[in-house]
Amino acid sequence: MSLTERETSVPSYADATYVLRDIAFDALRNRELIKAATRHIDYVIIHELCHITHRKHSRPFYELLASKLPQWQRLKAELELSLLG
Ligand SMILES: [Zn+2]
Repeated sequence: MSLTERETSVPSYADATYVLRDIAFDALRNRELIKAATRHIDYVIIHELCHITHRKHSRPFYELLASKLPQWQRLKAELELSLLG
């Protein structure tokens, strides 16, 4: 079963590799992200790491994200505003 076919399972190093690759591609695609505040980069990384456990943006995904980063919604909004320039 591929990473995209399932919602949850035991994470693997391959899953972590995919997530880290996505973070790197995001940074290359959006060079403004590289200039973002550390707390906003942390939000992006934690968001992506939560995808190791929950591939989709599902309720369990957001529950996990909130457990790791309770202020994620504020950080996301700040990041989006900063990327708009
Ligand atoms: Zn996501």
